[in-house]
Amino acid sequence: MKKPLRVMKFGGTSVGDAECIRRSAQILRDASREGAVVGVVSAMSGVTNRLIDAAIRAEAGSRDRAGAALSALRQQHSSAVQALIGDDAKRARLSAALQSIFEEGERLCEGTALLHELTPRTLDMVSSLGERLSAPMVAGALEELGVRSEAVEATELIVTDTCHGGADPLMDRTRERSTTRLGPLLEAGVVPVVTGFIGATEDGVLTTLGRGGSDYSATILGAALDADEVIIWTDVDGVLTADPRLVSGARTIPEISYREASELAYFGAKVLHPKTLRAVSEAGIPVWIRNSFAPEHAGTKITPRGRSNGGGVKALTAIRGVALITVGGPGIVGVTDVVGRTFSTTAEVRANVLLISQSSSQNDICFIVPDADAKRTVEALRKEFAADVAHEKVEHITVDTSIAIVAVIGENMRGVPGLAGRTFIALGRENVNVIAIAQGSSESNISFVVAEADVKKALEAAHTEFGLGAPAPLSAQASGVLQ
Ligand code: ADP
Ligand code: ASP
Ligand code: MG
Repeated sequence: MKKPLRVMKFGGTSVGDAECIRRSAQILRDASREGAVVGVVSAMSGVTNRLIDAAIRAEAGSRDRAGAALSALRQQHSSAVQALIGDDAKRARLSAALQSIFEEGERLCEGTALLHELTPRTLDMVSSLGERLSAPMVAGALEELGVRSEAVEATELIVTDTCHGGADPLMDRTRERSTTRLGPLLEAGVVPVVTGFIGATEDGVLTTLGRGGSDYSATILGAALDADEVIIWTDVDGVLTADPRLVSGARTIPEISYREASELAYFGAKVLHPKTLRAVSEAGIPVWIRNSFAPEHAGTKITPRGRSNGGGVKALTAIRGVALITVGGPGIVGVTDVVGRTFSTTAEVRANVLLISQSSSQNDICFIVPDADAKRTVEALRKEFAADVAHEKVEHITVDTSIAIVAVIGENMRGVPGLAGRTFIALGRENVNVIAIAQGSSESNISFVVAEADVKKALEAAHTEFGLGAPAPLSAQASGVLQ
């Protein structure tokens, strides 16, 4: 029988310091004894944020502060290398490789400071440095464990479009490149350790897949190599019923469908990048979420269909850092095409509309965009409706940034009566005011808007209402609650 091929991705905390890197390398070593394995690694935790910060400081002309940020990172990486690699010659080689990446970073920041300009292309290059630093360290740690390994930059493998900061793969080209480059390594029993998060255009210009995009890198490579499974190693025991930082009783979900996991990711569950499952949806490759700090736990298996249990609530999530924009006033009933004009305006400014809600009287149209998109959206709307505001047909165009979206997720929830009612009664009991409810009914989620300050209370109330913290008794399953 053919040996299995696994793609294993390690997130920032799983490569956060020398000890974590060693633990992750041990997981890769153990997997390499059972079959072929490709590692995909994130930057050490916090590094991408610090690199972006350095680039922004450089743009503001502050060369020294950008330089200081880079030297702190240099220190962090060099002490990890010191702790990881015993052999002097090997350590010197690895340090020299990292040194030249830091020099590249310095040159990029100097150029940015000189021009006072940070283009999306340069920002991608600066933010990619963290993964380019961590991949050789993990490969070095594997060699220390006696496993042959080679660090590979994903710019050689993942061919993307030119959308800097959120690129998508061109799968045919990616497949060609990945099999040509990685196939011979795997055949020779070498474990490639690939940089997550990045790719390159056909012309070789570096791109990034978006923040948190290493999960996506792993499934892109999994699909390109026809892997048997993709395992995403992180710092929690799998996909939980809610963010454990917000709901103390959150529990691991043993199996979940692609669709449910995608909804959770889209609605803010950081455990998975929202595009992760796109890459494997055609091939149906299972994706596991597991804890690199507790590898004895099975984690969550994400499969095309999940574990069907007749529909019901499976998990909760919240999106923070968003703004509610309202276009309203009694007069808008008479304004022609107010809905159309509102959303063609949001499209023009490329605002990412996360949720839309409209009262039936048409007095108000409200929708939610990320905080970063709010200012330009409101400005564009005020311009679009300037004449209507002047004639008092549109009374107000307002923005409220103190809100959050909460989503209740589960496959086929529409088929289960009473779930929305139960959600809102539970919130009412806790005095959580629901500001808006999403228009229409998605089959797999109910989403609504609450004050940012109420998010934790709202999640806890719904978590308790649907018994998500404890194994569901049979009677509860019959009424549509599942686990
Ligand atoms: P990594 O660095 O490994 O990619 P992330 O920080 O991106 O890890 O994602 C893992 C984090 O996602 C967890 O530490 C947890 O706080 C958060 N999280 C949010 N919602 C969920 C959820 N439903 N299940 C599991 N983790 C969640
Ligand atoms: N290091 C990148 C980020 O912080 C990608 C990732 O961790 O998935 O966004
Ligand atoms: Mg992540």
